Amino acid sequence: VAVDGGGFVRVGAEAAGPVALPGRPPHVLETSVPGIFAVGDVRAGSVKRVASSVGEGSVVVSAVHQVLAEARD
Ligand SMILES: Cc1cc2nc3c(=O)[nH]c(=O)nc-3n(C[C@H](O)[C@H](O)[C@H](O)COP(=O)(O)OP(=O)(O)OC[C@H]3O[C@@H](n4cnc5c(N)ncnc54)[C@H](O)[C@@H]3O)c2cc1C
Repeated sequence: VAVDGGGFVRVGAEAAGPVALPGRPPHVLETSVPGIFAVGDVRAGSVKRVASSVGEGSVVVSAVHQVLAEARD
């Protein structure tokens, strides 16, 4: 998984560097590894607050469902 200089996990367009995603742009909270997401404190650039971590966790659910649906098709 691609990380920044501080060891925080890169996501989205920022993550699509060394490990390219196959055939599609990454979801906003998707890491450099397709289907693996990062939210909350571990995510590079996150606000490091409880409310934002919880919010990111709820937002990412739809992307996880989307990736699972793609894998099923
Ligand atoms: C002292 C302190 C005070 C704070 N005060 C506030 C505040 O007043 N208000 C506020 O909004 N935020 C506050 N924060 C920040 C807030 O705690 C974090 O932003 C929030 O907890 C992040 O949630 P998270 O789920 O991303 O990460 P975490 O809460 O850190 O959860 C990550 C979990 O993953 C587990 N884990 C780690 N590595 C592994 C592994 N390899 N395998 C399995 N599990 C693993 C950890 O044990 C932990 O349970 C404070 C933080 C600290 C340290």
